[in-house]
Amino acid sequence: MQREPIGSYEFWFVVGSQFLYGEETLAEVARHAKLMADGLNKSDKLPCKVVYKTTAKTPLEIENCIKEANYDDSCAGIITWMHTFSPSKMWINALNLLQKPYCHLHTQFNRMIPDTEIDMDFMNLNQSAHGDREHAFIAARMRIGRKIIAGFWEDEEVQKELASWMRSAVGAVESRKLKVMRFGDNMRNVAVTEGDKVEVQMQLGWQVNTWGVGDLIKVLDSVTDAEVDAQMEAYRSRYEFATKDLETVRYQAREEVAMRHFLEKEGAQAFSNTFEDLQQMRQLPGLASQDLMREGYGYGGEGDWKVSAMTSLIKRMTEGMGGGTSFMEDYTYHMEKGNELSLGAHMLEICPSISTEKARVEVHELGIGGKEPPARLVFEGHPGKAILASLVDMGGRVRLIVNEIEVVKPIYRMPKLPVARVMWRPEPDLNTAAKLWMLAGGAHHATLSYDATAQMLEDWCEIMGIEFVHINKETTLSSLKQQLFLSDLAWKLR
Ligand code: MN
Repeated sequence: MQREPIGSYEFWFVVGSQFLYGEETLAEVARHAKLMADGLNKSDKLPCKVVYKTTAKTPLEIENCIKEANYDDSCAGIITWMHTFSPSKMWINALNLLQKPYCHLHTQFNRMIPDTEIDMDFMNLNQSAHGDREHAFIAARMRIGRKIIAGFWEDEEVQKELASWMRSAVGAVESRKLKVMRFGDNMRNVAVTEGDKVEVQMQLGWQVNTWGVGDLIKVLDSVTDAEVDAQMEAYRSRYEFATKDLETVRYQAREEVAMRHFLEKEGAQAFSNTFEDLQQMRQLPGLASQDLMREGYGYGGEGDWKVSAMTSLIKRMTEGMGGGTSFMEDYTYHMEKGNELSLGAHMLEICPSISTEKARVEVHELGIGGKEPPARLVFEGHPGKAILASLVDMGGRVRLIVNEIEVVKPIYRMPKLPVARVMWRPEPDLNTAAKLWMLAGGAHHATLSYDATAQMLEDWCEIMGIEFVHINKETTLSSLKQQLFLSDLAWKLR
């Protein structure tokens, strides 16, 4: 996909102060802030750059900085810190204007109190212990959603927390420019893949629109043999061919080239289709959709544009992390007592970024849809900790549900299963997790990610101003019932 890496985003380090302390102290504040920005950038822990912007001493300076941040496309958020005391009534008008993700880094320049050196000059310079409390009050008073990170800025945990939040913030900025292409409508009669596209654009910024499958077929017919050859070469370099039916694989290559042309022309980062609406297309895109997902595109089956958009966003947030992210569906359970597992798969479209090994290209019958047997990638998902995320439309608002899971090596080989497969144990256990997921209205489709964490997605929800439901080891039926009941009331009041 043609786009800048997320490393090209900047986060502006805005340091608050006031004129009370004199020129010398303010110069020292600025010098320290630069050292901290440099130190954070050199840590190699952060996905994006920290840019020291200003030591703000007046309401106008703060306001100008925030206005600039709002309008600068490369700025994905601000990080504030009060080295000295910055009376926060000075911040009200500026914070009222803030449109970018906001992190308050509660730290201090020095780690230790310098026992024999500490004097009133030191005390006048190193005030974040109380200065940051004044700063935090005004955001609390104004009900501004923000991330608070507390700890020494050189500590790995603090840097990792900041790194994770930066990814959430990038997800928020990217969400506001996300375009989703729907090839055809949803699968008929399915409820959870429906949704209010106007409401979603208002809340999340997504531009979700539909193109007729006939328009895609026109592009498909115009794909040249040379383009198909080049796509086949790319397949050969990435995957193992476990089929001799090259004509079938070539048709997938043609579909991929056509879909990529279409996506690029519209500047879209995600797409959906459905086996019910393929018109004259000879095969449901399998390998084609899988290979596009590997490249970073979001995908949703049966017209599920919400899971497609979330898959695209989570791939973008976790760019460069390497664990993998895919469209997923709970397919079938293994209900052995004490070893309950979910087998995740789809008709075809699981992303090879989560594969243990080189995925195999195979051709098999689909069983439904009445089209030619499509080529697809078959592989096993790798073991490891992961999350499942599902965004659902609750009517007037959306809710993101996240379940923590442990992916295991599939306990069976399942040699007759002709699709990619992943096996996992959800937290706290399959039966409880399924109950809680369904209580919250989680879809049968989800995004599975080894890289995103529940915290990263919770922070993303906070920035977007949407509801977050977390299912993990600690979640109980009664606590979740209580939360859903209260959040229904709270969201009605908004
Ligand atoms: Mn499905």
